[in-house]
Amino acid sequence: RHRVPSGHRLVVGLGISGRAIVRHLTRLGLPFVVADSRETPPGVDDFRRAHPDVELLLGPLESLSMDQALEVVVSPGVDPRQPAFDAVRDRLVGEIELFVRARPESAALVAITGSNAKSTVTTLVGEMARAAGLDAGVGGNLGTPALDLLDGAHELYILELSSFQLETTRRLAATVACFLNLSEDHLDRHDGMKGYAAAKQRIFAGASHGVVNDEVAATWPSGDVAVSRFTTQAPRPGQWGLIRDGAGVWLAEGDERWIEASELRVEGLHNYANALAALAIGQRMGWPREAMLAALRAFPGLAHRVERVGERAGVRFINDSKGTNVGASLAAIEGIGPTLDGKLIWLGGGVGKGADFSALAPPLAAHARCALLFGRDAALLEAALQASLPCERLDTLEQALDRAVALAQPGDAVLLSPACASLDQFANYQVRGDAFRAWLMRRLDADREEK
Ligand code: ADP
Repeated sequence: RHRVPSGHRLVVGLGISGRAIVRHLTRLGLPFVVADSRETPPGVDDFRRAHPDVELLLGPLESLSMDQALEVVVSPGVDPRQPAFDAVRDRLVGEIELFVRARPESAALVAITGSNAKSTVTTLVGEMARAAGLDAGVGGNLGTPALDLLDGAHELYILELSSFQLETTRRLAATVACFLNLSEDHLDRHDGMKGYAAAKQRIFAGASHGVVNDEVAATWPSGDVAVSRFTTQAPRPGQWGLIRDGAGVWLAEGDERWIEASELRVEGLHNYANALAALAIGQRMGWPREAMLAALRAFPGLAHRVERVGERAGVRFINDSKGTNVGASLAAIEGIGPTLDGKLIWLGGGVGKGADFSALAPPLAAHARCALLFGRDAALLEAALQASLPCERLDTLEQALDRAVALAQPGDAVLLSPACASLDQFANYQVRGDAFRAWLMRRLDADREEK
């Protein structure tokens, strides 16, 4: 049995976050050892070369004796509830707890969480800060790990935080804490919806200001936080929302119109909600209105999020590979479906993470010609959908795409928004989205050669 030396911290997980934790503790000069449950975690040789003095304990966590550890720092990919941590439960923290302790007092912190749209809103708020002339460190769950941002000594931090990161943070004390939305995801790891919602609510612990989606969390947060609320309905006084006026839609605060939705480069109601959240955050931070609006007008959206990748024979191809849960795919189907002359050919499937797919049936019945299902949980999707629309099961994404072009008619859109994680057949959602794009590019090349 390996023993963690007394007075040392134990870092668990040798992934991207784990390495950031190691760099941070090294900078602080604090003693630690690193464990990973895998015998040979990816990149372990590089790690040994970069950190020859760090002791690595590889293999099952149960075979580790941790009770001497000063503190156990877990990566977000490591489940803190596992029995191996029972003896150290009172000393279990995550990377964001370390960030909170080390953050300079003079630097503000904007923290953003939700089931979906975190990366989109975090990036947009970062662009607004830049337009306002601020030196912001932007990262967290996307891009640069939070602890690595501290190295750059920014005047402001803008962090995307997952429920896993919040679960192991005691008191975040954000300047502005934003809660975007809540839908079923990761239920397999949070003991159902209640545990998941509770983890997300931790974002408000010690916050000065809150920005909250009024449609999903009208009663949050409890406690002494000054809150801005946003909705996709007409705003009440003091709220952010959408004013519909003739053919136009306006992003507004109370009855004050800030910008017409047609000026944005991103489409769909869900993206208007994202823009409202970003404006509310920027306003709470006191940023100039014109800077925020300029950033908003220029924002093209992120790749793999309802991204138009091309068109073939009058059929649009839309890559929403980041649609890895039911809530995200609902937003994509309801956002794109009504805008088409034709119908959606919907491509879904992969790892369903225990979600209930039945909510997809009504919008798909309304907007889709058929559902083409692939990957591990294709049968579960089929069971939930087949009473509502034609469904077919295929083995791979490529086969589903071949079938899609056979079925599609001009005016249709082929939408990859799988409502599932990709890990059964792909390294990650980017690789899945890239495969979608690559398939289309090959087809377009072949078309050209035929001519
Ligand atoms: P996250 O970082 O939370 O995963 P992303 O910005 O990467 O969020 O978007 C994830 C998925 O959610 C994408 O499929 C995107 O199209 C979808 N999405 C974006 N905004 C919203 C929203 N407001 N509500 C629901 N889904 C959304």
